[in-house]
Amino acid sequence: MSPITPEVLRDYLHDALPDGELAAVERALRGSAELRSLLSEVLEQEDRGEHTVGAIWRRERVSCPTRDQLGSYLLEAGDPEVLEYIRFHLEEIGCPYCQANLDDLKKLHS
Ligand SMILES: [Zn+2]
Repeated sequence: MSPITPEVLRDYLHDALPDGELAAVERALRGSAELRSLLSEVLEQEDRGEHTVGAIWRRERVSCPTRDQLGSYLLEAGDPEVLEYIRFHLEEIGCPYCQANLDDLKKLHS
């Protein structure tokens, strides 16, 4: 297979690789510390250029925040990056599950 360049890794992070290559890159990452450090460099470059929420999204592939995190969101306490992610998750993605959870928490707090 062709060498894994930073461009390939960038495509990998953006889910822009065909399935076959994706699997090959994942295998290569598991086997190579050098490649993993290259990947973190690429991630850092991406983080600099883009909105943090997008970066968190790709880095963590986070889906739903925990109920504790929703509680902190309600109180506007905790890591601002996390709070911003939760806002994004609720308002931009409009996750119905978390919205219900948040409504429930609001009732408890009122
Ligand atoms: Zn959710």
